[in-house]
Amino acid sequence: MRYAMAVDTKKCVGCSDCVVACQTENDVPIGYCRDWVVESTVGTYPQLETEIRSERCNHCDNSPCVRCCPTGASHYSDGGIVLVTKNKCIGCSACIQSCPYDARFTHPDGYVDKCTFCLHRVKKGMEPACVAVCPTKCMYFGDLDDPNSPVSKILKTRKYKVLAPEAGTKPNVYFLI
Ligand code: SF4
Ligand code: SF4
Ligand code: SF4
Repeated sequence: MRYAMAVDTKKCVGCSDCVVACQTENDVPIGYCRDWVVESTVGTYPQLETEIRSERCNHCDNSPCVRCCPTGASHYSDGGIVLVTKNKCIGCSACIQSCPYDARFTHPDGYVDKCTFCLHRVKKGMEPACVAVCPTKCMYFGDLDDPNSPVSKILKTRKYKVLAPEAGTKPNVYFLI
């Protein structure tokens, strides 16, 4: 099993409902976020356009954050989801420095926190909170090893990219372009 997400940059309207849903679902402290919305200019002049992306931890297959963690707090869980075990984290910040996507932050309680792909919901057969709430239905989640999962099906029919492929982390969040 390999969990992954695809986000359609052509359908995302930048409403940030995904960010609010995550903060509510996961008790993210005020002033912090596990997911965020980025607007950037893509293309080559004069064919420029604005791309809107809902970003989060990429749950990379080759995660520097897991490799550098001295305590094993950062680890791979079900379906390759990258998690942090709170009570094993000593707050050294090595993982924050190693992540090319700036996906982690230090929680006010002293441990490092980030997106979990809402594994607690996924285990109950539910979608991650951000996916469930998106008003344009532009996010797709599921198991890449299952050809019938929403994410597998959409990746078969659309062009996509990952962020910072040159970092070699093998991300599992795909952006449909
Ligand atoms: Fe984009 Fe959906 Fe997030 Fe709104 S909820 S910013 S449309 S991904
Ligand atoms: Fe680790 Fe960053 Fe990849 Fe998430 S996006 S698995 S925090 S390297
Ligand atoms: Fe590991 Fe915590 Fe240090 Fe990150 S801050 S590398 S999770 S011990």
